[in-house]
Amino acid sequence: MSNSYVLVINSGSSSLKFAVIDSATGEALVTGLGECFGLPEASISWKYQGEKTEEVINTSEDHHQYAVSRVVKLLETLGLSAQFVAVGHRIVAGGETFKGTVRVTEAVIQEVERLAELAPLHNKANAIGMRAAMEAFPELPQFAVFDTAFHQTMPAKAFTFALPYELYEQHKVRRYGAHGTSHYYVSREAAKMLNKPVEQSNFITVHLGNGASVTAVKHGECVDTSMGLTPLAGLMMGTRCGDLDPSVIEFLFRKGWKQEALFEMLNKKSGFLGVSGVTSDARGVLEAMENGNPRAKLAFDIFTYRVAKYIGSYMVAIGEEVDAIVFTGGIGENSLPIRSEILSYLSVFGYKEDPQGNADARFGQSGTITSSGSKLALVIPTNEEFVIAQQSVEML
Ligand code: ADP
Repeated sequence: MSNSYVLVINSGSSSLKFAVIDSATGEALVTGLGECFGLPEASISWKYQGEKTEEVINTSEDHHQYAVSRVVKLLETLGLSAQFVAVGHRIVAGGETFKGTVRVTEAVIQEVERLAELAPLHNKANAIGMRAAMEAFPELPQFAVFDTAFHQTMPAKAFTFALPYELYEQHKVRRYGAHGTSHYYVSREAAKMLNKPVEQSNFITVHLGNGASVTAVKHGECVDTSMGLTPLAGLMMGTRCGDLDPSVIEFLFRKGWKQEALFEMLNKKSGFLGVSGVTSDARGVLEAMENGNPRAKLAFDIFTYRVAKYIGSYMVAIGEEVDAIVFTGGIGENSLPIRSEILSYLSVFGYKEDPQGNADARFGQSGTITSSGSKLALVIPTNEEFVIAQQSVEML
């Protein structure tokens, strides 16, 4: 079934990305983004044959719902409605229920809604997206691809928190991870680059975007990952704090913080933004650092140090020769100084940057960023939509 197209829908908390993807090549016929849902400035834009169009969303209807119906109409107008064979949805939290891609049914949607306790904003939006698409394309098979599924192979020692075990038994409190589709994709691409079966390879995949996570991929399977019950754990991120002594929460409660403000701070006001006081965006932090801002420099230092420590600890998780460290995500694919600093921490493990390789692997370009004689680090642009399209067609 080559060259089958899939409509991929990625419904975020306040956004909806969509694309019609060639499941054989990953090429997109049309891509689009609805954003700022729930706000007066809500809009939807798309790119078709090199041309970008933008519309404001001005309706009292639920914006996710509206966006799906607008996408349906758009695909009709562009003559693309009959082009795709399936709809693939990116779903954030699959809990322990979903260990792989499944066909969307009402029961699946209800389970995704139930699992919203793990990702409240995302799973609710995902469920709205699935329902609206089922209504719009009742004759087309639809598939749900879960961000957590790739991490379901973690052993208990990696996913169990050192809490009373009943919390796991009763409430399934455990590490689930996220970004699974991205870690899956770049580990497969890395194996292709090395000309080695992924089942015989070991990678540490490092997804650095607004959200950031590291995964140990042993023989093609996830054995550990840095995000936890939710995407708040692990690395420092654009606005999320990552790993934290839980006592900080109790301490701030005692200082009079309220639950909502506290968790808003940990999720939306920490990370690059909180430490630098400048911005959550890595480019802005780097610029401020170059202009001599000491807190931007501190944010850079914490970020790179923590990524390097995670990579070091995942050498233990893998416990065998690591074939390559793989950088991806907006920062991992583009930021020379951040990659360079991380590699310099990793010199103890035999990694040495190739400055030219590092400079060349940017803006969607894959490449090797370590020198000959060094252990290997690669840059591979992620493509979650491609995986969703591929897996949907495989399920057909
Ligand atoms: P998301 O997690 O929202 O999908 P992305 O993967 O697009 O995010 O990553 C966004 C991050 O990538 C931002 O912090 C942005 O500054 C960073 N980024 C993008 N391009 C560059 C660049 N050229 N140099 C440094 N950082 C970059």
